[in-house]
Amino acid sequence: MKAPAKTKTRVVMKFGGTSVANIERIRAVAQRVKREVDAGNEVAVVVSAMSGTTNQLVAWCGELSPLYDAREYDVVVASGEQVTCGLLAIALQTIGVNARSWLGWQIPVESDDAHGKARITRIRTEDMIARFAQGQVAVVAGFQGVGQDNRVTTLGRGGSDTSAVALAAALKADRCDIFTDVDGVYTTDPRIVAKARKLDKISYEEMLEMASVGAKVLQIRSVEMAMKHGVRLQVLSSFEDKPGTLVVDEDEIMEQELVSGIAYSRDEAKITLLKVADRPGVAASIFGPLADANINVDMIVQNVSESGDTTDMTFTVSKADFERAKQVIEGQRNQVQFAGMIADSNVVKVSVIGVGMRSHAGIAQRMFKALAEKGINIQVISTSEIKISVLVAEEYTELAVRALHTAYGLDAA
Ligand code: ADP
Ligand code: ASP
Ligand code: MG
Repeated sequence: MKAPAKTKTRVVMKFGGTSVANIERIRAVAQRVKREVDAGNEVAVVVSAMSGTTNQLVAWCGELSPLYDAREYDVVVASGEQVTCGLLAIALQTIGVNARSWLGWQIPVESDDAHGKARITRIRTEDMIARFAQGQVAVVAGFQGVGQDNRVTTLGRGGSDTSAVALAAALKADRCDIFTDVDGVYTTDPRIVAKARKLDKISYEEMLEMASVGAKVLQIRSVEMAMKHGVRLQVLSSFEDKPGTLVVDEDEIMEQELVSGIAYSRDEAKITLLKVADRPGVAASIFGPLADANINVDMIVQNVSESGDTTDMTFTVSKADFERAKQVIEGQRNQVQFAGMIADSNVVKVSVIGVGMRSHAGIAQRMFKALAEKGINIQVISTSEIKISVLVAEEYTELAVRALHTAYGLDAA
């Protein structure tokens, strides 16, 4: 079917887990969608699973086997979004809105075969666009796609944001609105810092960095994709009618703060290999097999021992990959030869983000001082051009984030 030319405003609306947590909320979402339809717009709605559902599904897989088959994991965890997209389509029909549901494979949302964290490669939109022309709303199951292997894939936790932005890019939508349980992007997680400040605008670069270090308000890939395709992205409340936060180009932001935000990620686990031989090729023999097993390594530090012939190597992986990472490393014992392994998942990564860091010295020092004043020990440090991250014991999460928020002058008046 050839898609007719676009004449109306086209919007993609995405509703997260809390926004579709029960039937009453799904009804409220349907009303919000209807307003967009009544305004004469073409609408695609992307939904997450009801809050808590995906965690439960993930836990069931792990209960059966910590080393589950990732293809079957995807079949299980993708099911949450199937329920909500069907329910929202019914809710819309009930209030007189022409709507139908779409699962990932039906559109299709094509992805690679990296089960559990697949990347979208292409979205076909002809059918959907033809139905827009007939006044139909598309209700799309977020988080899911179909792999080259013709099996269900999922896009990584929080992946419905990416489904929405990818769909907005493919549909050349005028807007992509991410409705969630907070009313925008803040200087830090407003749930742990009461003095967090809401930002009217944030640059793609800073949002990308915030997302990459754990601010789960947007999944990192959704920001990457919005930046690449120039998608007009907005984060706003699904409960209150008020302006949210616009994600824009850096040059659209008039006054740039030195530090724009603080983020944390509890999704970290630390592995230390003791007395690893200090010779060429060792890092490759540790990190090569981890990469082959599709395990992303985040922070890395290496210390040379006193004797100079061995080194301790510490790195972090996500909690979901922790067990597998330990197994992969054990399997390398003959090649790598290390005296022991210490594994610790009671850690959190706390990060300070700001494009102002490119041109100002002393930002890291302020971070170390603020943490020291609270007696918080830093285990690992990593930096990029516009970010500094430290790994600390998990029990200090709130204390560290609040101390840094104050230290950089971010507290609301
Ligand atoms: P959804 O289910 O709608 O996708 P998420 O739980 O994935 O919602 O993301 C929203 C949550 O992100 C908020 O409830 C908040 O606790 C958290 N969050 C973390 N950092 C920030 C931040 N800087 N600004 C706003 N929210 C943040
Ligand atoms: N339901 C999925 C998750 O909890 C995807 C999403 O909500 O974005 O990770
Ligand atoms: Mg989310």
